[in-house]
Amino acid sequence: MSDFRAGPADRRDFTVRCAECRAAASLPAYRCDACAGPLVLDLAEPSGTTWPDGRGIWRRGPLLPRGRATVTLGEGDTPLLPLSPSGLPTGVEVYAKIEGQSPTLSFKDRGMALTASLAVDLGVDGLALASSGNAAVSAAAYAAAAGLRCAVFCGTGSRADAKLAAARAYGAQVHVVDGDYSAAYARATQAEADGVINVTTTYRNPVPAEAYRTIAVEIHEQLSRVPDVVVVPVGAGPLLYGVHAGFVDLVRLGLTDGVPRMVGVQAAACAPLARAWSSTDWRAALAEPSPPGATAATAIADPLRGYEREGLLTLEAVRASGGRVVAVTERAIGEAVRNLARDGLLAESAAAAAVAALSGASLGDVLRPGTTVVALLTGHGVKEPATLEGIAPRHGVAQREGG
Ligand SMILES: [Zn+2]
Repeated sequence: MSDFRAGPADRRDFTVRCAECRAAASLPAYRCDACAGPLVLDLAEPSGTTWPDGRGIWRRGPLLPRGRATVTLGEGDTPLLPLSPSGLPTGVEVYAKIEGQSPTLSFKDRGMALTASLAVDLGVDGLALASSGNAAVSAAAYAAAAGLRCAVFCGTGSRADAKLAAARAYGAQVHVVDGDYSAAYARATQAEADGVINVTTTYRNPVPAEAYRTIAVEIHEQLSRVPDVVVVPVGAGPLLYGVHAGFVDLVRLGLTDGVPRMVGVQAAACAPLARAWSSTDWRAALAEPSPPGATAATAIADPLRGYEREGLLTLEAVRASGGRVVAVTERAIGEAVRNLARDGLLAESAAAAAVAALSGASLGDVLRPGTTVVALLTGHGVKEPATLEGIAPRHGVAQREGG
């Protein structure tokens, strides 16, 4: 499934630097040598958005960092569908970007396709990562496609049995770690070694976020314009960061005047970014210990413990866009899952959180008539059996009564 053709010349040159002190680094690297800040990629100006041929994210080569190998399972080009969530003012147009239709049923595939490709370029043998489940399935699939080993570290708190079974089926070695996502993150950093790249999809590895630029360009093409608001479920938030960077690319290319307000959504039970957003000192707020509560939205339940500075990258992107970070209740998430299922869309709880945010008061002043909103439905519900069981009885009863 992998294709090792040399990439066309117009992918973007890049450098790696510290997000905070700007000191230079080179891949693979995970932290600034000077200040231990998170690393980011600086890409050269884009020459365009799209090549005439190619598929999915690879058709958007002019947006992507330069590389040679192409490891692909057909990721990208997901549908954008109109939604009619209840409780919104008349005249607000809502669309859902269905990332659950990716090869392993979550948006992570865009990031893993790019990261596995650059891993092949670097000549490594294996990938290792912390995951709450979706990234594990995705990394396992792309490692298999690239002929690489894959080691997954997943916290018991992520309750990801179905996702981990899929990762094992792709041939990954799965390590279940006692604790939450941050406990798994710490274990994955210990696996960083010669020949093994840590592809943890917080900002630990700076590469995956770059692939999410392609989502912005797809939305722009599908709507024939840039929406006013884009709502993104966030753990650490590299998805939001990457999508925002893609909209900035569109501005640089003169294809639009401004970027959408980027709205990050967290589950109230584990919301370090939402809490920091509403404080005056982000750094101090992120450093405050806050034991996470239980949430159905396991895919975004990231306490950021031990890597708080990564969260600043997301908050900066939100601020640059004029957006905000909000938190939604478990009840609102559950309702959104059920309502989406009634519309034919099975979303995992973290994905449904994006839709749940639309009906809350926290966006009331933003969602005025004439506003166009895109919610990223980040992952498919079929990998989350507990959520399916939670919504199934109501449908089951209705079917018996009606049939
Ligand atoms: Zn630094």
